[in-house]
Amino acid sequence: MKSDYIATIGLEVHVQLKTKSKMFCTCPVEYGAEPNTHLCPVCIGLPGALPVMNLEALRMTALTGLIFECEIAQICKFDRKNYYYPDMPKNYQISQYDLPICQNGRVPLYDLAYPKDAQKSIKNPDKKVRLTRIHLEEDVAKSFHFESATGIDFNRAGTPLMEIVSQPDIESPEEAFAYLTSLKQALIYGGVSDADMEKGQLRCDCNVSVRPKNQTQFGAKIELKNLNSISGVRRALAFEIDRQIAALERGEKLAQETRRWDDDQGETFLMRTKESAHDYRYFPDPDLLPVKTDVFMGEVRQRLPELPWEKRERFERQYQISSYDAGVLANDLELSRYFEAAAKGARRPKAVANYVLNDLLSALSGAGKSLADCAIAPEQLTELAALVEDGKINSKQGKEVFAEMFASGKAPAQIVQAKGLAQESNVEAIEGLCRDVITANPKSVEDYRAGKAAAINFLKGQVMKASKGKANPNLVSETLERLLRPSPEARA
Ligand code: ZN
Ligand code: MN
Repeated sequence: MKSDYIATIGLEVHVQLKTKSKMFCTCPVEYGAEPNTHLCPVCIGLPGALPVMNLEALRMTALTGLIFECEIAQICKFDRKNYYYPDMPKNYQISQYDLPICQNGRVPLYDLAYPKDAQKSIKNPDKKVRLTRIHLEEDVAKSFHFESATGIDFNRAGTPLMEIVSQPDIESPEEAFAYLTSLKQALIYGGVSDADMEKGQLRCDCNVSVRPKNQTQFGAKIELKNLNSISGVRRALAFEIDRQIAALERGEKLAQETRRWDDDQGETFLMRTKESAHDYRYFPDPDLLPVKTDVFMGEVRQRLPELPWEKRERFERQYQISSYDAGVLANDLELSRYFEAAAKGARRPKAVANYVLNDLLSALSGAGKSLADCAIAPEQLTELAALVEDGKINSKQGKEVFAEMFASGKAPAQIVQAKGLAQESNVEAIEGLCRDVITANPKSVEDYRAGKAAAINFLKGQVMKASKGKANPNLVSETLERLLRPSPEARA
């Protein structure tokens, strides 16, 4: 982005809640089910069918509000948003208009939420993006466009959908990325949604405008649609900001419009120019009575989870690991649980963190697996770390055992035994090997005694080789140094 322009970005995010049933009926919510198998008169909008509120969806929305420090409304009411919906036959959506459950919150943008390549140059490390509101509504059916026809799947119709609207506080594509990542992690931590953008569980629209730095009035607001990954949002915004700046530089005037992002082509395309603002003729839904939120807020408060940024601080303190490592672990709920299960029984949790962050993550990505299909139980990782700590095997052998654990799921002790890996820590055995190597390599011994300290590394390597890698390396160093120390007679 050119430095003499400012970008202003606001995001509207729709999130599918992880409830068992739909928002106003008892039909199950199930992702990927056979089309049109979860429907009833309420969710296909038959006249006269009566909605019944799903209180769990209200609780989840209020919990999201608590997570992001929102004010929770005392009364929660639903309104009808009237519109011609091809995928919602009753032609109104039950939503919230003037009284959203949550208002005014904040989403923290922490360092690891930024894209990796931008983490070193964060402009405002303590930034929190303000929220305007979070409200609850029902989703519409899903349309599938075939060659000459369109099919509609009503399984999604009437499922609870939470809308999170930010203030236009976001100033760069990287901040938008961090905002969405932070939002997503917290939603997963709260058990509110799986927030998988690729599955449509988190859908994002961006409003973006640019203006010259010396201008106070905002530029024309342009809305971006069809974004289906967090990195796609970053790419789309970067493209769009450059496009708008280039247009302004050419002296063009930008108008309010809606554009579609094409991720394959890496460009945005005009969908429609600004129509007059819709008048949805909102009015309170007469079928749904307002609900006092204090009937469930006590329970909701108890559900407030430890949040990713809080867990990071605790990990750092409790397990004596670096802030960065703690952050990487805490950034993924499943990974943080796995680590903690392994670290609890460990003498040196840092060693366990190293196995998780280095060996485990790279083995998983190499095998294209997720943590859920990992063959190594956390307790086995604790055991492996203990074998190395106790000097039963050395750290190089530890890696070998790890690889075998990952492949077979066998216990580390069993692998050590089967492979005959146990580290040689017997003083006499090692001394014997060292003496043999010293006798066989007079030149290196001479070099070492002449002051070439590095010559001992060659000797050490020979001993390790003779022991087939099993010798305790520290013991080998100590023994060699002791044997090579000039004897009193030699000094005389
Ligand atoms: Zn239904
Ligand atoms: Mn909405």
